[in-house]
Amino acid sequence: MIDTLRLTAEEAIRLLERREVSAAELHGAYVEAIAARDPELHCYLTTLDEPNGDGIPIALKDVISTKGVPTTAGSKILEGYLPLYDATVAERCKTAGLSLLGKTNTDEFAMGSSTENSAFGPSHNPWDPERVPGGSGGGSAAAVTAGLAPWALGSDTGGSIKQPSALCGNVGLRPTYGTVPRYGVVAFASSLDQVGPVAKTVRDCALLYSIIAGRDPFDSTTVELPEPVRLPVGEDLEGLRIGVPRELNEAEGIEPGVKDAVRAAVELARGLGAEVGECELPHSVEYGLPCYYLIAPAEASSNLARYDGVRYGPREPGETFREMVEATRDAGFGDEVKRRIMLGTYALSAGYYDAYYGQAQKVRTLIRREHTAAFASFDVLACPTSPTVAFRIGEKAQDPLAMYAADLLTIPSCIAGLPGLSIPCGLSEGLPVGLQLVGPQFSENTLFRAGHALERALGFDTVPERLR
Ligand code: GLN
Repeated sequence: MIDTLRLTAEEAIRLLERREVSAAELHGAYVEAIAARDPELHCYLTTLDEPNGDGIPIALKDVISTKGVPTTAGSKILEGYLPLYDATVAERCKTAGLSLLGKTNTDEFAMGSSTENSAFGPSHNPWDPERVPGGSGGGSAAAVTAGLAPWALGSDTGGSIKQPSALCGNVGLRPTYGTVPRYGVVAFASSLDQVGPVAKTVRDCALLYSIIAGRDPFDSTTVELPEPVRLPVGEDLEGLRIGVPRELNEAEGIEPGVKDAVRAAVELARGLGAEVGECELPHSVEYGLPCYYLIAPAEASSNLARYDGVRYGPREPGETFREMVEATRDAGFGDEVKRRIMLGTYALSAGYYDAYYGQAQKVRTLIRREHTAAFASFDVLACPTSPTVAFRIGEKAQDPLAMYAADLLTIPSCIAGLPGLSIPCGLSEGLPVGLQLVGPQFSENTLFRAGHALERALGFDTVPERLR
């Protein structure tokens, strides 16, 4: 009997290596778990019942192109679309032998913080199915927590890996911009999008990162990693300098229970030998969100111009070419996507470009510089991943600004191109709280070291109470 709820990817690999299970048995165990639990949780948009690799299984967020396997980005406009090629990250998973379990639910074009913007209906949080799993990668995060995949890939533009991991009580890494190829990943905002792992443990996360990272000739924004990925082993944090940015720990809207859990985790880090000090990121909270909501929609409005009823997916009839395109986009895109296209088009239009997009780029530089300044004194920065625990389905659906605020604390480091790791650090109101650790560019190994030592010391049980 394979206990998919508890099995980590590393343990699954060990079972395979010792020939205690076969790849087909492993795949089958997850397919069974999906059949039992997914009707309630709706983590998957597509599942593959047959094993297709000789390694352990994996789930991929449905923005990652998979040859011959539906890839919808959570949008009706891509319904029925079958990619002709694999995204580089999907190909790297295949090369590593990983067996594709299926494609996970996402907010449409990864725009959202709850998966409620998926055209195919929301996913549910395994800790409490009446609550959201976060977003946009809620399907991947919920699948890992519910034992419907040993690990998964997500994509993160402003928080879509870190925030759902926090809300579902697992580990998520948004890697340094440029370390993971975006080739074949449905584009949202190209200067921000990064693919990264979602897993039960920091070591699993590091292992999956080592599979997908590294330069890709098909993505000119990628680089080779300056040092190989090291699987963390240490238990102490001797010599590690942890900065606690005041603004990101005291921002309005952070729930008291979230603050307490994060504060306790930072104290625990001190107990493990870390030097802890306060620091400042003066513009990150005040200007991060507005800056992101100019840059991301601007880039999205350009990236989404390709969905015209000709290149991909369904087409609505029209008398003229223009009418056909308009009708297709009107029927194919949901409200949030249309809102972003309008915002972005406006911000980029003649006469407004400098005032909005240009200005946002300057703010972006400021935010990047203040992070660099903080890293002169600290190796990692710590704060909550999400200001709140998982909220109720429907609670923020009618209020885009409240939904945008879910990423208040994840967005600054995304804008700065920096890596961030979210690990579960405790419970508030019986729901998981995420601790976000942010480091300088290419500091993933440091984040893994810190995250691993802390997760061991914290002893957080990633299995939701109601599923134990
Ligand atoms: N919630 C943010 C948004 O709606 C971030 C989404 C993401 O990272 N893809 O844009």
